[in-house]
Amino acid sequence: MDEAQLKQRDVMIEAISSRLGVSAERGRRFAELTSLRVGGSIDWVISPRTEAQAAAVVYELERAGIGWRALGSGSNVLADDGEHHYVVLALKDLKGEVGFEGELVHVSAGYSLPRLCIDVARQGLSGIEGLGGIPGTVGGALWMNAGAYGHEIGTVTETVRVAREGKVVEIPGSTVQWNYRHTSFKDGELLLGATLRLTPDDAAAIMARMEDAKSRRLATQPHGGRSAGCFFKNPPASAIGTGKMIDEMGMKGVRRGSALVSPVHANFIVTEGENARAEDALALAEEIRERVKREQGIDLEYEVELWRANEPTKESTQSALENSPDEVKEE
Ligand SMILES: Cc1cc2nc3c(=O)[nH]c(=O)nc-3n(C[C@H](O)[C@H](O)[C@H](O)COP(=O)(O)OP(=O)(O)OC[C@H]3O[C@@H](n4cnc5c(N)ncnc54)[C@H](O)[C@@H]3O)c2cc1C
Repeated sequence: MDEAQLKQRDVMIEAISSRLGVSAERGRRFAELTSLRVGGSIDWVISPRTEAQAAAVVYELERAGIGWRALGSGSNVLADDGEHHYVVLALKDLKGEVGFEGELVHVSAGYSLPRLCIDVARQGLSGIEGLGGIPGTVGGALWMNAGAYGHEIGTVTETVRVAREGKVVEIPGSTVQWNYRHTSFKDGELLLGATLRLTPDDAAAIMARMEDAKSRRLATQPHGGRSAGCFFKNPPASAIGTGKMIDEMGMKGVRRGSALVSPVHANFIVTEGENARAEDALALAEEIRERVKREQGIDLEYEVELWRANEPTKESTQSALENSPDEVKEE
């Protein structure tokens, strides 16, 4: 996109955000918005506060042909060091209040997952206490089907609220495929919130199970550091987990520039320093993949999402700007 096209896009973004009353910021970097603390500049960060607002924002962006990506806490994203010319729809302000209705729990996408785990445990509701130590938002957890210690969010999801044609639409959780750290949600689908169906149990017992899961996590994973959790998925056909495999290759502690394989858990890549680079984390990750392929014959799959600055998002800003907004086809 040339200067003039970028300017035209900026005018459209300003108009959309002021019409819908949402905050739109410039000058942010992925290094500030992701747990790995790396990644380049973002043209625009738009932060809706309600589900209806978020649905309206993406509808308007898509009508104008402006590319966007949803970001929760950024705890599962490695964005590269380039200039990201799309809108980041930041969902952390979309938290609202948690609603309790018997065994049902209504929650918005930007709500903190660890916070929710505590809230429901206090209400004597079981089913997600294993997820208590996973950083991130409910929306990110739904997107990835986050799981740990025998619990996965998908198994307790009664309905998901998604953005369709500018409206909030509720779909049954049973229509979603909830796989291992992957779901059938398609790129460009914005998750606004969910209703979970949990199981009544003794609050103290649920809390105790959650504390147990958290202490097991603390004993085996780096904490306080800058990571994105497990970098690679466990290969389905392998008898040992990816962490153990990398450890057995002697790679714990291996450093490439500002990134290193965690000495605590070999499937965690951590970054260090003020000016840490995504490039270093990526180079290290690729080195691990190559060695695992060479020595074990296994193709490791990324669990972390790689966001490339030059990869188009669902809607290409370029193609839309070649049309006038009125000519952009509605979905
Ligand atoms: C120390 C550490 C430990 C971890 N342990 C675990 C673990 O045990 N199990 C596990 O499953 N994960 C784990 N993770 C990974 C991560 O915390 C989870 O995947 C979490 O659910 C991501 O939530 P988020 O809000 O940070 O998502 P983000 O990283 O912001 O986004 C992840 C993906 O979800 C999409 N997304 C986010 N919100 C929405 C939305 N509302 N609508 C549409 N798409 C959306 C993003 O576009 C992106 O594709 C760990 C991470 C860290 C740093």
